[in-house]
Amino acid sequence: MPKIWILRGLKKGILTTAYPKSQPTSEEVPTRSLPPRPTDAADWPAGERGCPTGAIDSGDKKVDLGRCVYCRFCSSAGFAFEDGFGSRAGAMQASLTGNCATGTRHIFGRSFHVMMIDVGSCNACNLEVLNLSNPYYDLSRMGIAFTNSPKHADALIVVGALNQAMVDVLRRTYESMPEPKLVLSVGACAISGGIFRGAEGFVSPAGDAIPVDVVVPGCPPSPVQILEGLLLAAGRLKEEGVRR
Ligand code: SF4
Ligand code: SF4
Repeated sequence: MPKIWILRGLKKGILTTAYPKSQPTSEEVPTRSLPPRPTDAADWPAGERGCPTGAIDSGDKKVDLGRCVYCRFCSSAGFAFEDGFGSRAGAMQASLTGNCATGTRHIFGRSFHVMMIDVGSCNACNLEVLNLSNPYYDLSRMGIAFTNSPKHADALIVVGALNQAMVDVLRRTYESMPEPKLVLSVGACAISGGIFRGAEGFVSPAGDAIPVDVVVPGCPPSPVQILEGLLLAAGRLKEEGVRR
């Protein structure tokens, strides 16, 4: 039996993604994960009226990616979306918040333990996070591992729209983590409430309950975009965006 698997491996080659050594492919960051891009033809007031999450601000002419759920309704108001492949550099959207200290990020090296907490998701963000441990994304090759205990976690990934029942759980989980610690808000729900903003039961963005260091927009973000957020949190992406 082992012989069969060895032969199969030799025949198919290595299937693990080349990211972060090279830019992700169109399969890794599909078009549904690409953000709206305002154009000169964009009708901002119409875009704002049609946007279900209030992501479009026609006054300041800005799109808040933390609220965007990538529904593409604004395409009818002249907003564009990348459909071709081209460079995926513009597709990478994770960013640091003002809370993240550079010194803290570089401490973790290649031993970085991550816990995920769901505070009210639809399960899609969870699935994309958990996909990172499959052989294709293979987090372990980068020294990143999932843990189920906050006492072992260097970073906490928060997914979902925070509801009342989970506020205390989220705070206690964060407080149980040893210092130094990092928090990532993954997906529109965790960052802003997303489609549930204003709904009964939604309390606040996760960042209002605990300090958030990195945000990864999307609904859901692709695994590669979440991985970018983890590498950014761990200080493993250079400032100019070159991967290492
Ligand atoms: S894609 Fe949807 S949520 Fe995002 S800005 Fe456009 S209309 Fe709003
Ligand atoms: S951001 Fe989108 S995919 Fe993620 S939990 Fe919320 S609704 Fe689901």
